[in-house]
Amino acid sequence: MRDPRYDVLFDPLEIGPVTSRNRFYQVPHCSGMGRSRPKTLAAMRAMKAEGGWGVVCTEYCSVHPTSDDAAYQFATLWDQQDITANALMVDAVHEHNSLAGVELWLGGNYISNYDSRTPPLGLQSRPSTHGIHPVQSKRVDKKDIRNLIRWHSNAARRAVDAGFDIVYVYATHGYLLSEFLDSSSNDRCDEYGGSLENRVRIVKELIESTREAVGDKCAIATRFSVDLADSESYDAFAMLAELPDLWDLTVNDYDIEMGPSRFVKEAALSAHVSKAKALTSKPVVAVGRFTSPDTMAQVIRNGTQDMIGAARPSIADPFLPNKIEQGRIDDIRECIGCNVCYAHNSLGIPIRCTQNPTMGEEWRKGWHPEIINRMSKPNETALIVGAGPAGLEAARVLGECGFEVLIAEARTEAGGRVACESRLHGLAEWSRVTDWRLGQINKQANVSLYLDSNMTATDVFDTGVNHVIIATGSHWTTDGIGRHLYTTFEGHDHPCVISADSILHNTHSEIGHYLIFDDDHFYMGPVLAAELLARGNQVTLVNPMGRLCDWGRHTDEHHAANVALYNSDVKIATNQLLTRVSDTEIVTRCIFSKELFHHSADWVIPLTRQHPDDTLYQSLLTHPDRSKLTSLQHTGDCRAPGLIAQAVYAGYETAINLGRQTDSDIPDFKRELP
Ligand code: ADP
Ligand code: SF4
Repeated sequence: MRDPRYDVLFDPLEIGPVTSRNRFYQVPHCSGMGRSRPKTLAAMRAMKAEGGWGVVCTEYCSVHPTSDDAAYQFATLWDQQDITANALMVDAVHEHNSLAGVELWLGGNYISNYDSRTPPLGLQSRPSTHGIHPVQSKRVDKKDIRNLIRWHSNAARRAVDAGFDIVYVYATHGYLLSEFLDSSSNDRCDEYGGSLENRVRIVKELIESTREAVGDKCAIATRFSVDLADSESYDAFAMLAELPDLWDLTVNDYDIEMGPSRFVKEAALSAHVSKAKALTSKPVVAVGRFTSPDTMAQVIRNGTQDMIGAARPSIADPFLPNKIEQGRIDDIRECIGCNVCYAHNSLGIPIRCTQNPTMGEEWRKGWHPEIINRMSKPNETALIVGAGPAGLEAARVLGECGFEVLIAEARTEAGGRVACESRLHGLAEWSRVTDWRLGQINKQANVSLYLDSNMTATDVFDTGVNHVIIATGSHWTTDGIGRHLYTTFEGHDHPCVISADSILHNTHSEIGHYLIFDDDHFYMGPVLAAELLARGNQVTLVNPMGRLCDWGRHTDEHHAANVALYNSDVKIATNQLLTRVSDTEIVTRCIFSKELFHHSADWVIPLTRQHPDDTLYQSLLTHPDRSKLTSLQHTGDCRAPGLIAQAVYAGYETAINLGRQTDSDIPDFKRELP
């Protein structure tokens, strides 16, 4: 039953001519699906509506081929053909009594128009401001502005035909309308440039023309940035305050709006938003990676905002609103702020989620975040060895299916790599991966977890179970082999070369100078450097590429990670390969000039690859008693090391396919073909 403290989250709200059934609002967010996977998209958005989100929006939706963000995936409303694809999503959302919103979008200088091959229309003629694409935009003239407004209106009419309830004017995130608003990019001398009133004009005209296009069929929302450090943003907001039916407010800095939990915590936008909220009578929605219902109720009650905006929390738990409604607070699968979802959109493929393995698989595999589609046969038992993210997820799923499940974990705590990594500098929220799964398992009488139980092959057979899943994880190697080195470096067996695991597991705690050779290019190098520094060590971070944390460009943490490193005492060496370690020196080599660099450090940590811990699995495979088992699988990092998201996904998949033939010659998922 719902806690009355959260009643405020379930009050209906009028948004212009439409009414949301509650205060849960899935803001427009990229999905990596867009126009190329409309069925995948519709099924994913429908899941949010089924889970109780009163409003579910689609991603940025281009109004015309001059706004083309290929190779990213985005929605389109260019012509009549697009109406059918968008209507799929709208109908699926309406089926669950939620409102559907569309974020009409004008790209500006931010994009490259790689697909449409027409020059981007920017406020100035300048190179694409996103990435380093060799593309320069055409400066918009008066005729272009008239066209842009007309295209936007036409797309708004198509949005009505597709059945949308809320239509956006999208005036932030560095796209064309931001360029108009910003005095540093707007150098026009006509009525669209110069004074603030002139720079705001295009947004005003678009709100008015969109309203004219949609009449009283849809509400008009405007996505807009305000920032306490930028008083003009509030002056601009005040000029528009009463025009749209809803404000979707954010801040100028995307690194804060979308920041990983390492750098940004829950409700980080609230102070910026509440100042604007005081300037308008229209409802306001804003994000803040809200996962706590107490914080959500508080920001509504104290007048910061009227609706709880969410992208990531709705990805990690599409059923978050329903769980609050049903008083199932500890069932909420809280986002950990790792931004793995965003990373895969950045790669042009459907989003996925560390916490929610079903995300992106709703249509293709028919997966549902709350309903597991298999039943056990009576009296089936399963042993899972290893209680890391893969093992815990497999145990949770099998437990729900009715298996009698034993989990054996060698260590005295559950969580595997997550238990270690979440103790590192800034990663505390990652422990939610373990906490949520342990919470679920604790409610299942048919699942028993045994800690401090290092299993041998004999132990496994002694349990007498039908099914065995080995989820024993992996370890960081010291040989240096990885992306850049195909063979080991000289001196890789020197005693000063230690595994990253010795830091992660706290088995090596001597104070001194550590050299990390980071050929991993994601969070581990920078986080380990920060951790060692915090423990009082000197750190040198050597990287064979030009930029640190390069994969972090996809998770949007690359900038903050580099700022933190460059402002710390970590010594940084880029474009260098680890070449030799000896009693007297550590040598790295420039990957371009081959120049050698000599370092002095007490320990060297090669961060290059992980090795699967599959000895137990291999010994079971060839064991004389193997035929006594109905099935034997290995999963997670023990099968193929990767992201935590991949381990959770593997655990889920192994569990739902347990005992089924899965090595078919054809894909075991539906393909969405054009
Ligand atoms: P994954 O990410 O695939 O879940 P982890 O490395 O996070 O892998 O977790 C693997 C877990 O398996 C660790 O907690 C480790 O202690 C445990 N483990 C490894 N070998 C054994 C074993 N022989 N018996 C029991 N537990 C084991
Ligand atoms: Fe949150 Fe990470 Fe899932 Fe994205 S991938 S929704 S950041 S848990």
